[in-house]
Amino acid sequence: MKYDSKSKKQGIDKIEYLLERKRRGKFLYSNFQAVRNVGISPYKKIKPVRSELGDYEHIAFLAPRVFSFLYLSPIFAYEFYRLGKIIGYCTVDGLFKALKIKSLVSTLAKTGLLSKVFRNKRIQEALRKGWQSDGGGLIELIEVNKEEKRLKYTMSENSCAIIKTLADRYQYKHLTKPCSCIEIGILSGQAEALFGGIWDGVETKCIAKGDPLCEMDLHLHEGEIHPEISVLTKEEYDRILDMSIELVISKEKTSGRGELGDPLMIAISQSINYLLLSTSKGHVVLSKWAGRKVGERIIKRVEKNNLFDALDYLKDLFLDLKIGIIWYELNPEVIVIKMRESVYSSGVKNINMKLCIFIAGIIEGALIEATKAEWIITETKCTANGDPHCEFECKNRDPTVLTKLLLG
Ligand SMILES: [Zn+2]
Ligand SMILES: [Zn+2]
Repeated sequence: MKYDSKSKKQGIDKIEYLLERKRRGKFLYSNFQAVRNVGISPYKKIKPVRSELGDYEHIAFLAPRVFSFLYLSPIFAYEFYRLGKIIGYCTVDGLFKALKIKSLVSTLAKTGLLSKVFRNKRIQEALRKGWQSDGGGLIELIEVNKEEKRLKYTMSENSCAIIKTLADRYQYKHLTKPCSCIEIGILSGQAEALFGGIWDGVETKCIAKGDPLCEMDLHLHEGEIHPEISVLTKEEYDRILDMSIELVISKEKTSGRGELGDPLMIAISQSINYLLLSTSKGHVVLSKWAGRKVGERIIKRVEKNNLFDALDYLKDLFLDLKIGIIWYELNPEVIVIKMRESVYSSGVKNINMKLCIFIAGIIEGALIEATKAEWIITETKCTANGDPHCEFECKNRDPTVLTKLLLG
């Protein structure tokens, strides 16, 4: 057999992907209780990982996390897609184990008949209900092409549908290209867990650009990996971020979803956040910056011009969105913000990581915008680091500034 350097490279990429999927998927599944709960709630009564806020956040908070990152670096659409695949792979596998249909799935998959697996009512129902109960969207399998090993899904009430609602509500332009990257990644990862092999997906129609439904084409392929994710421009991601912030600061905060309403299972945010932060130090820095952009824009829009108004606003907002319960202590040189029930770290074992850097970024951006002074917010404690609660230290570059602010 003849190899050119290109096919060799692609072969290595595939192995790298499979190793990454196995290692990171397993880590997520074994350390994140919320991730293990994905898709199981319609079948079993589960004790929530957060006793006060519950295991659903407001869906309005997901877009700022994702689109602030994409705004900083549009090419990350590919990365979000890949992370989506890991999430899809490890959650659907866990779901089948929990429903005790894992052996049914593997027996059917071994027969090599795709259509049998997908036409199996229990499997289809588990997938559909999983997406629905987690608040991810409404999915429907509309086509199985067993010769070409292709599947077609439609999706509604997903993130694209919310973008469309917000564009209409706040009078922004519609998008020109499909915009889903994580969701199509999750579907592809689920297909990999079901059939084995490598699956990729393309979004061919999208609600956000005016189509009635999003349409996702999935295909099995051998060898090379060529995801075809559409990457929007920085301006478009900026626009989506702006409209997402309009939703966050609105009084009603209705995402406009008819059947699913506003709740989103925290496992989605936890997986995305953890996978991003554990990729590299650069991802941690970018996450802080992305949070800072979000904090600045929020405080600018709601016109809070002093430290205490900004802190109180964030406290109420975090509670409304079910991001966490915060309280703070004022000291002459440092403000200490403590947080319980963090959306990112609740139910996570001690993995020696601080997972709430995006929230630290939001606080930093908010304080800078409200006081026009230079703040540095450091995440000093996190429940994912074995601490009893999460904690942020807020210091001003000039220590006398805080004393002056406190004295009025
Ligand atoms: Zn779409
Ligand atoms: Zn934390």
